[in-house]
Amino acid sequence: MNYVSTRGGMAPLPFSDILLEGLAPDGGLAVPQTLPKLTAAQLEAWRALPYAELAFEVLSLFITDIPAADLRRLTHAAYTPAIFGSEDIVPLRPLDDKLSLLGLSEGPTLAFKDMAMQFLGQAFEYVLTKRGTTLNILGATSGDTGSAAEYALRGKKGVSVFMLSPHGRMSSFQRAQMYSLQDANIHNIAVRGVFDDCQDIVKALAGDLQFKADCHLGAVNSINWGRIAAQIVYYVHGWLRATTKADQQVSFAVPSGNFGNILAGHIARRMGLPIRRLVLATNENNVLEEFFRTGMYRPRSAQQTHATSSPSMDISRASNFERFIFDLVGADGARVKALWTQLAKDGYFDLSGQLGEFGENYGFVAGASSHADRLATIRATYDACGVLIDPHTADGVKVAREFVEPGIPMLVLETALPAKFSDTIQEALGRPAPPPAALAGLESLPQRFEVMDNDAEAVRRYVREHAAL
Ligand SMILES: *Cc1c(COP(=O)(O)O)cnc(C)c1O
Repeated sequence: MNYVSTRGGMAPLPFSDILLEGLAPDGGLAVPQTLPKLTAAQLEAWRALPYAELAFEVLSLFITDIPAADLRRLTHAAYTPAIFGSEDIVPLRPLDDKLSLLGLSEGPTLAFKDMAMQFLGQAFEYVLTKRGTTLNILGATSGDTGSAAEYALRGKKGVSVFMLSPHGRMSSFQRAQMYSLQDANIHNIAVRGVFDDCQDIVKALAGDLQFKADCHLGAVNSINWGRIAAQIVYYVHGWLRATTKADQQVSFAVPSGNFGNILAGHIARRMGLPIRRLVLATNENNVLEEFFRTGMYRPRSAQQTHATSSPSMDISRASNFERFIFDLVGADGARVKALWTQLAKDGYFDLSGQLGEFGENYGFVAGASSHADRLATIRATYDACGVLIDPHTADGVKVAREFVEPGIPMLVLETALPAKFSDTIQEALGRPAPPPAALAGLESLPQRFEVMDNDAEAVRRYVREHAAL
């Protein structure tokens, strides 16, 4: 299995080579040269597999340059009951006779990003050790992505993490989650500024190519193909748990932001997993909902992007969307390149003629949810089903209900636990979400972080001094 760029300008490379890179050299994203196919017999043979073993089977279709015994060791190290809280790893829980929740948030940071990051942490360490090289992850976070990366990479050989966060602007829970890590390879840098200042410093340093090369800088952003591959596993797992025989169809509803989670579902469907529909749910930032409704893709500026109560879905442009469009236009890199050139020039592209050709929007339906919908859905789900859901999952449940079909199980991806977004739970129910037992006392642990001025040069000096080389 080799990977090419969505814009057609990269010689085919195996998984280990694209794992450590960001964008392809032509500005595109790495995608598999051909998609592996799943057969009904293969799916049936996988029914009884534990999650880590299923992950090995699915990932070996995409990762052919790591010996099977090694890859199996990596998936078994990533998906353990100790890390994910149960033998199931990803529990499937019915809400009522129409909807079930696919529990993707049982990992250390209580959100679905752990599912991919835990595997990525293992894969990074493996590839870096094999190559005798090192990597220094430099990132900015307002809370969520950064903590998933730190928990996945803590204590790993050959890699260090430098995570910038806005000093005094995260919730005390988020601070405790990140800053209580005592591992020597984790560096929390609290910048006296806002999230955008942190982001600007990262851009300035990563854009200095000499510094980037000297310090072996890398990133773990949502465009990493390794994350998409690891996410395909739980669609297969969800289908296996929700069905009893080969040709049964299932629909998935996905709270979406950067289009990473639902892209993995789309790939699973294209590989032959019997998925009836992918239900894309957005919040007030409905760029993607608009695309599936009209065929018009019109990303917004940062100023036009609302700060909502499902903040991890507050995106202006969906970084993984390019991979979907590549597939939609028949793997035509030149066409993708032209569309993204138009996007840069005009601020939009229009594929309204194209979507219908693929039959019912290529298997997608979409809807949007508002703050009021979120509160009402959290309340209704608690009252009717006795289950407390987080605001992002509530967006998924709200939109999923609009597309339930008789006889087709609808699985809503639970992308975070309510304890992480307790303010909104308080607003919906009049009381906070109970903290998970495993994290009791987290906020009283000693914290380790470096406070710095909003000054790229100070951060540069710090990284140079502490980088793993
Ligand atoms: C990241 C995130 C999302 C959005 O996922 P994408 O892959 O960006 O579409 C939704 N909910 C939560 C809680 C998240 O952390």
